[in-house]
Amino acid sequence: MSGAPPQNRKPPRSPEGATPAIAQWFAAKAAHPDALIFFRMGDFFEMLFEDAEVAAAALDIALSARGEHQGEKVALCGVPAHAHEVYLARLIRQGHRVAICDQTETPEEQKRRKAPTIRREVTRLVTPGTVTEEALLEATRPAWLLALAPAGDALGAAWVDVTTGAFGTERLAADDLPALIARLEPAEILASEAFARGQALALHTDRIAHVEPPRDALRRVTEAFAVATLDGFGAFTAEEVTAAAMAVDYVRLTQAGALPRLSPPVPSGGRGLLQMDGATRRSLEILRSERGEARHSLLAAVDRTVTPAGARELAARLASPLADGGAIDERHDAVDFLHAADAVRGGLRVALKGAPDMARALARLSLDRFAPRDLGAIRDGLARAEAMAAALAGAQAVPPIPPLLAAAQAALVPADSPRADMLRALADPLPARLEDGGLVATGYDGELDALRRLAAGAREAIAALQMDLAQAWGVASLKIRHHQQFGFLAEVPAAAGERLLREAAKDGPQAPVHRQTMANAMRFTCTALAELDRRVAEAGEQASKRERVIAQHLRRLCLASGPAIAAAAAAMAEIDVHAAAAELAADGRWCRPDMTGRADFAVAAARHPVVEAALARARGPAFVPNDCDLSAGRRLCLLTGPNMAGKSTFLRQNALLVILAQAGLFVPADSARIGLTDRLFSRVGAADDIAGGRSTFMVEMAETAAILNQATARSLVVLDEVGRGTATWDGLAIAWSVLEALHDRIRCRTIFATHFHELTALAGKLPELVPATMQVREWKGEVVFEHRVGPGAAERSWGVHVARLAGVPRPVLVRAQEVLRSLEARARGLDPLSDELPLFARAAPPAPAHPVLAALAELDADTLSPREALDALYRLKTLLEEAVAPAPE
Ligand code: ADP
Ligand code: MG
Repeated sequence: MSGAPPQNRKPPRSPEGATPAIAQWFAAKAAHPDALIFFRMGDFFEMLFEDAEVAAAALDIALSARGEHQGEKVALCGVPAHAHEVYLARLIRQGHRVAICDQTETPEEQKRRKAPTIRREVTRLVTPGTVTEEALLEATRPAWLLALAPAGDALGAAWVDVTTGAFGTERLAADDLPALIARLEPAEILASEAFARGQALALHTDRIAHVEPPRDALRRVTEAFAVATLDGFGAFTAEEVTAAAMAVDYVRLTQAGALPRLSPPVPSGGRGLLQMDGATRRSLEILRSERGEARHSLLAAVDRTVTPAGARELAARLASPLADGGAIDERHDAVDFLHAADAVRGGLRVALKGAPDMARALARLSLDRFAPRDLGAIRDGLARAEAMAAALAGAQAVPPIPPLLAAAQAALVPADSPRADMLRALADPLPARLEDGGLVATGYDGELDALRRLAAGAREAIAALQMDLAQAWGVASLKIRHHQQFGFLAEVPAAAGERLLREAAKDGPQAPVHRQTMANAMRFTCTALAELDRRVAEAGEQASKRERVIAQHLRRLCLASGPAIAAAAAAMAEIDVHAAAAELAADGRWCRPDMTGRADFAVAAARHPVVEAALARARGPAFVPNDCDLSAGRRLCLLTGPNMAGKSTFLRQNALLVILAQAGLFVPADSARIGLTDRLFSRVGAADDIAGGRSTFMVEMAETAAILNQATARSLVVLDEVGRGTATWDGLAIAWSVLEALHDRIRCRTIFATHFHELTALAGKLPELVPATMQVREWKGEVVFEHRVGPGAAERSWGVHVARLAGVPRPVLVRAQEVLRSLEARARGLDPLSDELPLFARAAPPAPAHPVLAALAELDADTLSPREALDALYRLKTLLEEAVAPAPE
């Protein structure tokens, strides 16, 4: 394995001459050379040598030095053990991996062994893809660990979310790897060193752990799931099994041998999904904006879920919309039902709100790394699930509950649920940590209750003793108090203490024995008090031991019902998503899309959910809805219009409608008929993205090439200013030829936005091309954008007007107008740009126009009377016959 940032620049030191503790450090480092070693020393985790330098810089904490090793001072920095998670989180987020080298025996055990130092072992390797702590996780994002096993041109992929147990595999072409990575956004990738090096570009992340594919992959996976064969889970290819084994092995390695609860792998997760590549996802800002912020994403705009697990499920659905019509319809049925059934939806959302994250609690329980609140999460989560089942059962609505909701309802109340036990066993409220005591409720366990009674009885005896001692010692103000370090002590004022010290030492159980002198008081004990103190302490210790036993028992109960609890948690997340989609639809003008098997696309009054929400927040002008019809015969929409008129918004909103619809949500439109889409492509011309510093013209063209190679007649393509990243003629030529290919060869639904209004010359040449333009009007010399898409083409580009809007000084604008006029005049003289591109005209001079076409071109359909039209038709027919008839000799 190799960690992201180089952590071992200096040559490793030898452990020779090390103290016993430092020798343990070297052993841990040798086992995990690419991890920072968190070395437990008393109440701290310390980092040593180079690790200390790396960690001190990464965490912004003080670097110091202690002792010497081989004549050199040992660099050192440390974090308090009780707060180490916070520091871990920061290191992990920066891409480091950390090996926790903890003390694995008590000082007493060490003494008994007569060992020179306490035993320390690596108990865990913390990596970006294998953390389970709440503090280290994003509550609303899945945390995928992705393993890759190459096999020729193909690839086995397996991804597992340790925090929920979700597990998927897929066999894919090596070329599809970037799209898979863009879909999953893994927290960490596992691949052999050679493969990672070969795919450096595609992997494009520093979070790669080098893991070699194992030979006996099948055995490893079947063993992990305690099955003889994987057939029961589905059909896996050999490379999928290899990848799955890599993932399972790695998880086990990081958890020091323990394996968290994993759901059985689901093969071929990618089939039946809407395919989108990384560029498409970026430009559509599905889960985050191009700047990487979650705020202005599609997810943020449509997320009405009320639980983190629901938010994760929604994010997963938006990242992986379906391409299977039946499955999409089922989701729409569920949303439809909850949309209509207001009361049921309300009841479900009340039950969901604030429900604990059972899936992640279960993962921590399975790794034996849990806090009392994780047990509480199962108890309370199951209670919420029951309430949800009741809310659904109350819906004796006319339309029967649709299948997805019925299935979820059934999963909500598992038959073998530990809920009754948890309810009886757990105290309320729960302590923050197991060590604090008080996890178990009174009445659950007789033995624990007896121990607690013992401690309580001793405490009562102590209270009684206080009165006795006050009398015996002659100090009315005597108080018995408990001290962390010394246990119970009797405290008296300084003067009384002096007197007690002077008095001849008495014998007997109540004779004062001095313990502490303070500024104004003195503390004493006596045999009777010491005996009671011992009883309290012993009973307390035994009670906490008993509590740990009970906690383990409860943990086992939960794990025994693990699959059922996980299913209930998944059902809650699923209902949360459907209810959220219904809520969204109830809030505004959203509709159920009518999904068809043809290459349809006709939407009315559609909106861009993100821009609409932003405009609503700004309380300015409202979003202007737009129709879009790309049905057969008008598959290609060529959209022109000036900058800032709303082209990009229109383009993306139509693509987003497809994502929303196929993810199973309703769409922001009055009506929508959408033909099932197999692949969605969205591209932005390079110039639009220069700020990102990512796109060059080369990238723009590579991305365009991908469309031309992969799009099918079932795809939807939106192209925004493609060809913009190069010189005008080049760009225009490329845009032209791309349009022709999409229209003639691929025949997919396309919206092509461009400021090259010259492209509208194609309108007459490509029968399915429909020109459209963003409507703009001039008002008192100012340009006003109406944000409305109308038929036709922009006559000019309005660049100078936009420059004025942007505040370009007046003299510059005036000059620009002059230059524009003279350029336009010269262009008219040179070449009729709007009729035919000079570039193409020169390359292939147009054949002399056919007489019929010439006559047609002369006609002005708008001004013809019916009679004239009929005459024209006859004339055209005659012309045609003449042209087709053999020329007379
Ligand atoms: P273009 O791509 O033509 O330059 P954009 O799509 O980037 O234009 O839109 C520019 C701005 O216009 C957007 O940021 C948005 O504020 C506004 N806008 C776009 N479309 C609409 C619309 N349909 N209704 C209202 N405002 C819109
Ligand atoms: Mg634009």
